[in-house]
Amino acid sequence: MNILIFLCGLGAVMYAIARHSISFRIAALVSAVFLLVFTFSGGFNFFFGVLVWGLFLLPTLLFAVPELRQNLLSNPLLHRIRAILPPMSETERDAIEAGTVWWEAELFRGAPDWNRLLQYKAPELSDEEQKFIDGPVDRLCAMIDDWDITHNRMDLPEEVWAFLKKHGFFGMIIPKKYGGLEFSALGHSAVVMKISGRSISAGVTVMVPNSLGPAELLLHYGTEAQKDYYLPRLADGREIPCFALTGPDAGSDAGAIPDTGVVCMGKYKGKQILGLKLNWEKRYITLGPVATVLGLAFKVYDPDGLIGDEVELGISCALIPAKTPGVVIGNRHFPMNAAFQNGPNSGKDVFIPMEYLIGGQDNIGNGWRMLMESLSAGRGISLPAVGVAAGKTSARTTGAYAHIRKQFNTSIGKFEGVEEALARIGGMTYMMDAGRLLTLSALDNGEKPSVVTAILKYHNTEQMRQVLNDAMDIHGGRGICMGPSNYIARAYQSIPVGITVEGANILTRSMIIFGQGAIRCHPYLVKEMEAAGDADETAGRHAFDQALLGHAKYFVTNLCRAFIYGISASHLAESPVSGRMAGYYQRLGQMSAVFAVTADLVLMILGGSFKRKEKLSGRFADALSFMFYASAVLKKFEDDGRPRTDLPLVEWSAKYCLYQIQIALDEILRNFPIKWLGVLVRIILFPLGQSLRLPNDSLGHRVAALLIKPGEARDRLTEGIFLSDDENDITGRLEDALHKVILAEPIERRLRSSHQQKSDLQDYQQWLEQLLEMELITENEIEILRAAKAATRKVIMVDDFTPEELGKTKRSNRTRSQKVA
Ligand SMILES: Cc1cc2nc3c(=O)[nH]c(=O)nc-3n(C[C@H](O)[C@H](O)[C@H](O)COP(=O)(O)OP(=O)(O)OC[C@H]3O[C@@H](n4cnc5c(N)ncnc54)[C@H](O)[C@@H]3O)c2cc1C
Repeated sequence: MNILIFLCGLGAVMYAIARHSISFRIAALVSAVFLLVFTFSGGFNFFFGVLVWGLFLLPTLLFAVPELRQNLLSNPLLHRIRAILPPMSETERDAIEAGTVWWEAELFRGAPDWNRLLQYKAPELSDEEQKFIDGPVDRLCAMIDDWDITHNRMDLPEEVWAFLKKHGFFGMIIPKKYGGLEFSALGHSAVVMKISGRSISAGVTVMVPNSLGPAELLLHYGTEAQKDYYLPRLADGREIPCFALTGPDAGSDAGAIPDTGVVCMGKYKGKQILGLKLNWEKRYITLGPVATVLGLAFKVYDPDGLIGDEVELGISCALIPAKTPGVVIGNRHFPMNAAFQNGPNSGKDVFIPMEYLIGGQDNIGNGWRMLMESLSAGRGISLPAVGVAAGKTSARTTGAYAHIRKQFNTSIGKFEGVEEALARIGGMTYMMDAGRLLTLSALDNGEKPSVVTAILKYHNTEQMRQVLNDAMDIHGGRGICMGPSNYIARAYQSIPVGITVEGANILTRSMIIFGQGAIRCHPYLVKEMEAAGDADETAGRHAFDQALLGHAKYFVTNLCRAFIYGISASHLAESPVSGRMAGYYQRLGQMSAVFAVTADLVLMILGGSFKRKEKLSGRFADALSFMFYASAVLKKFEDDGRPRTDLPLVEWSAKYCLYQIQIALDEILRNFPIKWLGVLVRIILFPLGQSLRLPNDSLGHRVAALLIKPGEARDRLTEGIFLSDDENDITGRLEDALHKVILAEPIERRLRSSHQQKSDLQDYQQWLEQLLEMELITENEIEILRAAKAATRKVIMVDDFTPEELGKTKRSNRTRSQKVA
């Protein structure tokens, strides 16, 4: 009984701390009174009493008496941290400091303010953007024949290039005063999404000039003269840009580029002027082969001291006309059968004047920071939009196909095995879109949330991979056999491109998301590191002590929160809404608190060596990312006006995310740096065990059912992609067939129930006429059945080719392989 009263008292204090209902001072006072009463009323036996008082007094005294704390705790700790703090390179620092901190920090810190989330303004397209999307973008999509582009031409047709230039597709991020479209991040994303759903090759061609590259860099760092010259020419497509950072020796480790620019005098327009002699070798550069202006990153050296005392001046960026003597450019790579232009380029002893440097000579050495800052926003727009495009297109086409395609006399979408894959397509598409929209709302409000954009880049391309895999499986041979009527295989082939560019995914997950997140989002880590690095000993000690005090309160609050939420199965956590959705907010709040405690402990234990613990970092990245997606899903549902028909999608996605968070945290605890502590922490943080589960079969069934027939939720899920119900269009024929098949189904059901089935030997037409004669069917119904059958055939058939059509060398190859066999 005594123990029970004691635990209730302890729980009440923990709850009050967790919910910020009382300060630490009051909590200590209340606890002291409670313990005194308990002690004097004989509530403790001796040993238990000593233990409890010890556990209470030690931290309380450390909190309350600064001298004691400094001598016993903060000074020795500071000494240790100074000894082990790893040095941070300038490129690392620039990468970490780029961008801003946003909603992810709330999730990181264990107490997300749900009202703040719900108050973020949902992004909206302007009238002008909407008109552009319904006009030129739709017309472009109708013009695109991806098979022709990727198989016959290996390029966009001339008329498509001309259309893109004429309508300003390459100038979406350029302000109107320079002739650009000046679209919002949402507008930009919506255009890329619609085009990419139709053709990845066209999507990438439009995406690149609008993402990290010359226009973006000029806008933020260019001189006025550079902006006035280049931006109008980039906006109307007179200049085609590319940006070259990657080379054979520097891929993911782009800060290690060996390309050089040596400050020297050289001849330019007949005069001797100060400039740079460049040597470089780059590869994988998108639009490079057709670029007229090459954005180049290289390291500047000044060995002769022509502009100062320093020899190594750091990474810098320049814009170089592709026709400059010595520039070797034009050859193409062949990336996964995609036809966007991509290739290597190099230069040997190419002299450029200082005015080619973006931002001029003053900007020498700022290149890496410029690139990291631009990437911190850009990464959240283009590739995530491509992921959503793949999801929406897969949901629309695969759902329709799974209805139209029948095996064992049943639509394949009704088989439970196929339902599982369909549910993943639906749920993940909803998640990707929710993540995209939440991120765009930040970008359109001027934020550059670098951790969020890295999360989006990684997960929207990974989920694209999953969704396209599922879509391919459901299409069977129809997805595999390529040709003009295959609408899915080219997107499937392009998956690795999205995975690899703008920060390859393994690296993004295992180094960037949590590595940067920990430093940017943790409220005290940076303060402690700065204090440890402070040259002024007294100021450093004081700052460190204060940061440590704040850190300790932060940790204890999160610990109380995680335990109280855990023991109450999250019922004591906050939710901004009531009813069915409340539980998801509460669970997410619990996970956020568990995350904060676990992250804090691991960072405290490992310190600087955490940098090398990529597996742990990757799991923290997963937990943080899925918290972000879960919150995005809940917000999207509210922003959309809580449509009931979307509930299966919302609940599937929320449950999926919560389960992934639990798995990631579980794996962290299983691989905790100190094993016994991992066990103890698990008991405290998950006192009722791990009860979150994947979406169950019935929920999966409801998601799949939404995809395989026309409806409001299906339309909302796939909003923003190019749709057609023209039976001659590559995907329009699916919509056309879906409607016709659904119209025919009641007639087919009626015939089946009256045991009227066509034998294999009977001709379909004759069978229908026979039914007509027997007055089992009307003329009109015959038309409906015939139309459904014809439309179905159009959907299920694949292309075939003569051997000659498939390639010149096929015949001789075949003879050789036949001989070998
Ligand atoms: C189609 C295409 C278009 C591109 N367009 C451009 C462009 O326009 N401009 C440009 O400059 N570049 C471009 N790139 C280059 C792209 O950014 C690089 O390919 C990318 O940075 C990865 O470099 P890499 O291919 O050399 O792989 P590597 O760096 O060799 O990496 C190989 C693998 O190792 C992993 N890895 C590397 N380091 C770590 C680490 N520390 N921890 C964990 N994993 C790690 C990576 O995640 C990856 O999975 C393009 C690439 C492609 C394929």
